[in-house]
Amino acid sequence: MSNTNAYKTALQWHIDSGADEALNDEPGKAEPKHEAPQPAAPMVAVAPKAAVSAAPAVSFLGKSDARAEAEKLAEAATTLDELREAIRAFDGIALKKTATNLVFSDGNPRAPIMLVGEAPGGDEDRIGKPFVGVSGQLLDKILKCIDLDRRNEDPLQSIYISNILNWRPPGNRNPSPAEIEISLPFIEKHIALIQPKLLIFCGGVSAKALLNTEQSVSRLRGKWHDYIPSSAFLKSSTVPIPAMATYHPAYLLRTPSQKRAVWQDMLALQAKTMEIGLKA
Ligand code: URA
Repeated sequence: MSNTNAYKTALQWHIDSGADEALNDEPGKAEPKHEAPQPAAPMVAVAPKAAVSAAPAVSFLGKSDARAEAEKLAEAATTLDELREAIRAFDGIALKKTATNLVFSDGNPRAPIMLVGEAPGGDEDRIGKPFVGVSGQLLDKILKCIDLDRRNEDPLQSIYISNILNWRPPGNRNPSPAEIEISLPFIEKHIALIQPKLLIFCGGVSAKALLNTEQSVSRLRGKWHDYIPSSAFLKSSTVPIPAMATYHPAYLLRTPSQKRAVWQDMLALQAKTMEIGLKA
């Protein structure tokens, strides 16, 4: 892409995303030094946090039994359908009882790029697909700017999308550490079945869980990491996958000044697809 086209595309992306007003005289002034968005913003109106009781992470199993059971089920699944049904059958996470629908994935499973978000919100829970609410619409616009569309049948122009959690936390509360730990074998097996060439971790929950780090997304974003699964049953068989962390679109809706950073991450993603021969 020529410089002029890249600038035009970037400008259009900002306009489409609603950032049609300059916040500062100079670019970058509003950027915080490091600190990152903590929770992803709720996508729909939610009850006040205090009114939402934190659901227990597990049902009748304790946390370590639930994690062991999740690993067993994830290991046994040899196809996406089997994995989806294993997650549906798994009773080790209480979120299943409060959610309406299992949210497994969307997009093209043959796409070489896989994006992993945090957890379904209200719209996703209702429809049963990830990123279909307001932040999903922004995500689609962002991806469109680098010629990716989850509905495209050509794998090279498409993307595959899932989340760390497959069930909606009630009231869109943040996933608990126990819920993330218990769900990790499923998303790691999901990645292993898709075998993407590149990964995007959307938001701090996803980036920290899959890169196995406590660093904030503002520190993790903007550079490539090697994703290596932490579930023991996958460790031996997996080659590292280049992974880019970036800000969650829900955070961008609250903090439009960070769209510039995401745009940089998307350009880095586009450059990487060329570098590894996915696109000319
Ligand atoms: N936020 C996420 O992280 N995932 C979704 O599917 C929707 C909103």
